[in-house]
Amino acid sequence: MNKIIDKAINELPPQKDVAAWVEINTQHLSHNVQFIRAKIGPERQIMAVVKANAYGHGAVEIATYLLNSGVQHLAVATVEEGLELRKAGIKAPILLLNSILPEQISKLLDYQLTPTIYTVAFAEKVSIEAKQRGAELPIHLRLDLASNGLGMLPDQAVYQIKQISRLPHLLIEGIYTHLVSAYRQDAKQVAEDIQSFENVLSSCREELQARGVPIFRHVASSPSILNYPSAYYDLVRAGTCLYGLPSFVNQDGLLLKPVMSVKSRVCDIQYIEKGEMRGYYYSVFPESKVRVATLPIGYSHIPFLLLLKKPQVLIGGQKASAFGPANMSHLFVDVTHLPETRIGDEVVLLGAQGNEKLYAQDIIAETDLDISRCESICFISESIPRFFVK
Ligand SMILES: *Cc1c(COP(=O)(O)O)cnc(C)c1O
Repeated sequence: MNKIIDKAINELPPQKDVAAWVEINTQHLSHNVQFIRAKIGPERQIMAVVKANAYGHGAVEIATYLLNSGVQHLAVATVEEGLELRKAGIKAPILLLNSILPEQISKLLDYQLTPTIYTVAFAEKVSIEAKQRGAELPIHLRLDLASNGLGMLPDQAVYQIKQISRLPHLLIEGIYTHLVSAYRQDAKQVAEDIQSFENVLSSCREELQARGVPIFRHVASSPSILNYPSAYYDLVRAGTCLYGLPSFVNQDGLLLKPVMSVKSRVCDIQYIEKGEMRGYYYSVFPESKVRVATLPIGYSHIPFLLLLKKPQVLIGGQKASAFGPANMSHLFVDVTHLPETRIGDEVVLLGAQGNEKLYAQDIIAETDLDISRCESICFISESIPRFFVK
């Protein structure tokens, strides 16, 4: 396991022969872990949410690095994501947040993946299959306080938990809910949701003592980690804040450090004369001669470019704008005001350069999407190499 990380993390930023790359800053990742640790105190545990390839950052490397940095649990969305981590040699507990198919139950047992369970019928299926194997499978129960369709409704939960707790070969190891109200910063609803969670806990005190040991109760994801200490309980599930992405803007969110940068290099420089027409899906009719830097990346590599009418980049520590939307594999940037620009110069599409920055929240502000979607900026094509740098 450490081989992966030793190899990956010791990499230097790429040489001049790499035209576009993703840089993962492991110091910033450590900073964010320490930030969360300082918030929640030394006793509670951290579950790193590494679904969707660790929000595009690279699930195996990020998970490995975090497990070496004091994180105890991992969470992913799908069985396939869990398998990827197990096949890379990761031994830590992995919680599956998505609902799963009955046909996938045998993989849970093969690979020691912890399912989220919220129906008695599904719990029965898992119990039967675990019994056939002579195995005992840890499970987490999920409550649905926001009626979003994932979890037990509060008025049925007590009955369902009592049923599930009687099934053999299942070990209730955790109970959780996703605090949707915290994303809206609706403090009143947060308090009500926590009260409903408490009510269920107190009605099921005996059932929620697997092997006589209290189980993990967990409620907080990033906005609650930043804002609502009453939601901390036994462990927190950290996604966006680990990666330094504010899922909403407040002072604390801005103290996090963004982990991912996306960079490229100028691969050509041309001039367009006054009145000349250029471009594929857009036209440039400059009123005076302009200088154009060609970047060898487009929306097939960097999907967020598709959301922007005139993407901005940083070159030579300054902002520069594209002439129009990116095409599939190129972006043409106006560098008339940057006469120093040369072929091979580094260009930042996400991240900082000199005193300028283009963070996910700055980019999302230029689109129609809500700030809570700012993690989508980090979904970059696998064809772009990733470098994990210190
Ligand atoms: C994705 C997810 C998280 C992480 O949320 P962030 O806002 O990214 O911290 C936590 N819990 C559940 C159930 C999730 O699906």
